[in-house]
Formats: sequence, structure tokens, C-alpha cells
Amino acid sequence: MFRDALKHDEFVITCEFVPGRGKEGASVDAALGFAREVGTSGPRIHAVSLTDNPGGNPAIMPDALAPAIQACGLEAIVHFSCRDLNRNAVESRVMALSRAGVNNLLVVTGDYTSGGFEGNAAGVFDLDAVQAIKYVKAMNAGLEVPGAKKGTTIRLPSTDCFVGAAVSPFKRSEQELMPQFFKLEKKIAAGADFVITQLGYDMRKFLEVKRYVDSRGLRVPIIGNVYVLSLGAAKTMHAGLVPGCVVTDDLLRVLEAESRDPDKGKGKRLERAARMVAMFRGMGFQGVHIGGFALKTQDFRFIVERAAAIAPHWEEFVPEVSFSRDGEFYAFPPPPSYRPAPPDADPVPSFGRGRRSLKYTFARGMHRAVFDRRGLGCRLMTRYYRAIGERSIMARASHFAEYLLKFLTFDCRDCGDCALPDMAYCCPQGKCAKQQRNGPCGGSRDGMCEVFPDDRRCVWTIVYDRLKHVGRLDELRGRYTPPRKTELQYTSAWANYYLGRDHGAGATTPALGTEPKGPTA
Ligand code: SF4
Repeated sequence: MFRDALKHDEFVITCEFVPGRGKEGASVDAALGFAREVGTSGPRIHAVSLTDNPGGNPAIMPDALAPAIQACGLEAIVHFSCRDLNRNAVESRVMALSRAGVNNLLVVTGDYTSGGFEGNAAGVFDLDAVQAIKYVKAMNAGLEVPGAKKGTTIRLPSTDCFVGAAVSPFKRSEQELMPQFFKLEKKIAAGADFVITQLGYDMRKFLEVKRYVDSRGLRVPIIGNVYVLSLGAAKTMHAGLVPGCVVTDDLLRVLEAESRDPDKGKGKRLERAARMVAMFRGMGFQGVHIGGFALKTQDFRFIVERAAAIAPHWEEFVPEVSFSRDGEFYAFPPPPSYRPAPPDADPVPSFGRGRRSLKYTFARGMHRAVFDRRGLGCRLMTRYYRAIGERSIMARASHFAEYLLKFLTFDCRDCGDCALPDMAYCCPQGKCAKQQRNGPCGGSRDGMCEVFPDDRRCVWTIVYDRLKHVGRLDELRGRYTPPRKTELQYTSAWANYYLGRDHGAGATTPALGTEPKGPTA
């Protein structure tokens, strides 16, 4: 089994397929044909990985193909995007997959929606990937839910999901890269069983994922991404049209030159992929995730077999896959060697303080004055909100004044379950297109939002700068923010805070691993 192989330190190989749009067609045939051919006779493939509406476009659900693939003797890994499902649908889907015997999930935030019937579909993003991983692991433990009689609970049959998380290290600046690592740390704390990297072509960046995880003393298998890059895909990525995927000018030039070969560069593409497999193995990764457009079974076979043949020479290939951009930030100094090494020190304490934010300083001061539960201001405000009740004119006027102030200051959307203190006084509803409360998605590019690349900075780069200045970066990797309580939408977040109805009720938000099991809201 895939999970057994990882547990026994076997080097795993997974192959990715992209189910296309339509209930049948070439994409579906390719995935099923591959499973039929490889399921019975090598190469040794541990799982077939199936994407979930990649690029935010509709496609046949991987759940429909996974059982057929498993019937061929191969395991499936189903990508599980938070983009299209609310938390109830997440639970339904996990139950349905478990019932069908499909237990390997790769939980991701998901690219923003970019297609749909009579207009673009709405992105849901009810949960972020950290919350979704925690939810699935709580289902594994057996969720406790309300019983038929008031005050009783029942425990649901447990699932047995093996949950993967993704990490996107190909970020150019410190503010963009470090929150990716911090969020990865939260995903691991939430229970991620394995990690798959974003695709990329800079082995030092890949190695940094491993160095970061090791420096924090975390134990989780990391699987490197090997994407067989065609010139067409490279041009699309170079133009920034595939969220989180980076192709530099230099790499594009290499591929353009290769495309002039008689085979249009296919031989060199496959050779590069084989060398990356060999490098990941040599660097101590626990496997590779191979993907690419229109790959055939013989292509996968070539990559795997060729990688084994050239394995002893893997270190020679590192300079060939070292494409970085001007000003690229690395969390660690250049590695003396790409071989497995003792853990580095945590890089964060050496980063210094960074820029001061007056807005943050002011908001934090205000928070201390009236929201700190130990303070007089908080006690007085609690009395005030108790006295004015829910529907009085004073309650409505207070809510309006709160909304106006927070709209003008923070771009508040009146969600009623305020995450400003969790995010250095940045509003996830107004400032993050995917409403992420536990860290950035993987889609930002050069510090800009995936959805508004021309005019909106990724809010998590701002959160990072603010917390760095006050020496509180540890909050970004240790503090879990639960899903938003949607029942509080369009109610006063201040009243909900003072009267103990929001997610921060009664205490600071617990660190992952210290709270009771089960979904919070
Ligand atoms: S109440 Fe909700 S929408 Fe308003 S600032 Fe807080 S998190 Fe943002």
C-alpha cells in the first residue's frame, strides 16, 4: 500500500492524471489505460494521483475514476480541493470516498474558479486546507455529533483516510515564502500524513522544504514534484497563468531551444524528468510525484527506469535544474551538499525585525485597551453589550458604528466572527480572495494575489511583515484559527466577542493539537 510504503521508508512513485471535462474521453481513457497496463506489469508505481478541477475549471470528479483505478490493482490519490465544497459537503465527500474504499486524499486550497456554466462558478472556500485536514483527521477519530435526544451525542463510524498536504516553495520574497512554510507546519500539526511539493525547477528550493521541516524537528514524508514540462505548458506558466507554477526566462529559453530537436524536445524533457527523480532520491525525499501533459505509459516507464540507471550520478545534475529569478529569497544559506545532512537551525530567529506598521501598532493598542479579557475596558464593554441586548436601537446603532469604522479601516465585510486579531489586523473576508484564515494559498506570484495580480498584495505578506516587526512570527506557525462561524454573518462581531459567541470565545485560540477533536463550528 502507498501508506505502508511511506511508513517503511520505501521510495514511492506516484503518477498524476488530469481527468478532463466530460464523462468520457481521452483524459479518462489515459488514466484508466495507464492503471490497466501498470497495475498488472511494472514499473512499480505506488499510486495514481487524480486532480480535482485543476485551474478552477470543471472536470469529471476524480472520485468517479478512483474505484476503477483501484480495481486494476493500483491505489488512487484523490485531490481534494476546498474551493468547491462547504464543510458539510467535505464531510459527505469523505464519507462517500471511504465507502468506496478510496482513502488517500491530497487536501489543497484549490486554484480560484475560472470557468463554469453561464459565467464563472463561485468559489466556496468555507474551509482552508489546514481546517480541512483537521476535519478529515477528526473523522478518522470518529466524529462526535448531536444525537436524536437533546443533550446526547453519538460517535460516527471512523474513516481511515491517509491525508496529504501541499507546499509551494517557489516564492520570490521572504514575505511570500516563509508563510508557505508556516502554513505547512500547521498542516502537519493538523495531522497531514505526507507532503507533496508544488512543481518547480530549482532543486535548492525543493531542498529548502526538507531543510525547513527538519529544522523544526517535524517528521513527515516529503514527495518531490516532477513535472514533464512541454514548451506549451512552459509558456503558459511563464506568463503566470498557472497559479503557483514558476518558469523563469532562462528555463523558457532552454525549452525553446530543445523544441527545435527532431522529436520537438520530448527526449530531453523525459531525460530531465528522470534526472529529477534521481535527484529527489539522492536528496533524501521519500518519493516523487510525476505528471505532465499527455504522458503515456511508456513515458512514465522510461522516466522510472532511466532514473534508476543514472541514480549514482544524481549530484552532477543539480546545476541543470537550478532556475531562480533575480532577487530570489532562500530561507537557508546555500547547502554545502544536496545530500541528506543533520538539521539546520530554525532560520526565523536570524531574520531581524523588519518594517514597522503604524496601523498595526494602533490596532494592537486599541485591542489591548478594550478587547483584552483581563482589562477594565473589556469588562466595561462586556457589560455594555449585555445591557443593550440583541435588538434594541442601541444594539443596531452600535453594530452600524462598528461596521462603518471597520469597513473604513479594515475593509470589513460584517462576517460577525472577526479574525482581525488572528491576522495582525488584516481582514480575511475583505482582503483575501479565498478568505484564508491560517496562511496563504499557493497561488500568489511575486507577492501579489492570485485573483487580483495587478492591484492587490497577498494579504499574508502584510501579516508577515507586521508580525515580524514585533517579533511574533511564531504566531503564524503555531496559532490555529478555526473555520468562520457562518451563523454569525451580518451580526456585530464586537457583541459576539464580548458575549462569547465567536471563535475566540473565552480564551485565545488554542494551538493545534490541544483542542478537543471534531469540527469547531
Ligand atoms: S468582522 Fe469579519 S469581515 Fe469584519 S473585519 Fe472582522 S474578519 Fe473581517
